[in-house]
Amino acid sequence: MNLAVELLNVSKLFKGLNSKEFLAVNQVNLEIKTGEFFSLLGPSGCGKTTTLRMIAGFELPTSGEILIHQEPMKNRPPFHRPVNTVFQNYALFPHLTIAENVAFGLEMENLPRPQIKSRVADALSLVKLTDFQTRYPRQLSGGQQQRVALARALVKQPKVLLFDEPLGALDLKLRKEMQLELKKMQKQLGITFVYVTHDQEEALTLSDRIGVMNHGELLQVGTPLEIYEYPKTKFVADFIGETNVLTGRVTQIKGQEITILVDEQLTLHLTTSQPVIEGQIINLVIRPEKITLYPNHSQNQTNDPNIETWKGILEESIYLGTDTRYNVRLTDKMVIMIRIQNCHQDDLQRFTIGQQVNVAIPPNSIRIIEY
Ligand code: ATP
Repeated sequence: MNLAVELLNVSKLFKGLNSKEFLAVNQVNLEIKTGEFFSLLGPSGCGKTTTLRMIAGFELPTSGEILIHQEPMKNRPPFHRPVNTVFQNYALFPHLTIAENVAFGLEMENLPRPQIKSRVADALSLVKLTDFQTRYPRQLSGGQQQRVALARALVKQPKVLLFDEPLGALDLKLRKEMQLELKKMQKQLGITFVYVTHDQEEALTLSDRIGVMNHGELLQVGTPLEIYEYPKTKFVADFIGETNVLTGRVTQIKGQEITILVDEQLTLHLTTSQPVIEGQIINLVIRPEKITLYPNHSQNQTNDPNIETWKGILEESIYLGTDTRYNVRLTDKMVIMIRIQNCHQDDLQRFTIGQQVNVAIPPNSIRIIEY
């Protein structure tokens, strides 16, 4: 396999002001493939920026090794690594024009003038800023400044481009537009992108694969579909979208078919290849949009015997535009969350608070997780 970036058991220990040590990155092992759009996703302080800065060479690992295109980076300063970084704050020079900003890195390399000119023109054309090249950064919008920062990184023709929350300062609409442009550009150029974000939707939209981090650890790596549909832990399930986490006891096992008693009252049947034993307490996640809700008296219920139906009382309904979120109380201790697209509801007024409802859970939507 052609790997662009490899992290082998990489840790980073910071020494704080009071000489207390802080493990920002904890034994991370990661392989990023050439040409891949890879996102590091996690909450603030989880160590994603530190990981990116170690790949760039701005920070050195306390232990472990980083390889870029099979070459160890141990003694290579940032400017001798085949990578470039695009920062959230753009870091443009205010006194230089857009073209001069983009040319800066090439001038530092003392490249011949005609070559600089043609590479700057190509980079500006790629980010659609040819007409803005004589302006100064303050004369551009946030989105345009971000494009200049991108052009400045692209002009160096790096093998790997590193992004640290590059769209964080943009408003939602512009951010969505830039996301599409970035993705298109990445596919067109075939450059490996390593992208740091705390925005789960952004990571799902852009990435070929995502690595989810928390407390310095890399918890799970997978495609957006794998991470969303098959989260391994409660943290990953919770961080990527809304989820229900249920705890139950395995009461019966017949081959791969298991029966689980949730909250000592509700029965669930599911098929799993994961090894479980009778009496074991397990945690399950179910995405709210996989569950269906029926009025208690409705004829329009599923006849599929595999679909578990539980009775409950509708406690809350929140209209969210494209869909509605319902909270249904199933037991004294348990409330389940359900999301239904509004276009799938015959009548938005169909459910009323306090009403008895049936909650239908397809077994293939239930995942067993580590806590
Ligand atoms: P954010 O999204 O807020 O940028 P992050 O996931 O990128 O967060 P990092 O910036 O990698 O997190 O920081 C990880 C942890 O390491 C944080 O608790 C941070 O305070 C700490 N840290 C980062 N840089 C240093 C430093 N130079 N000295 C001491 N501690 C640091």
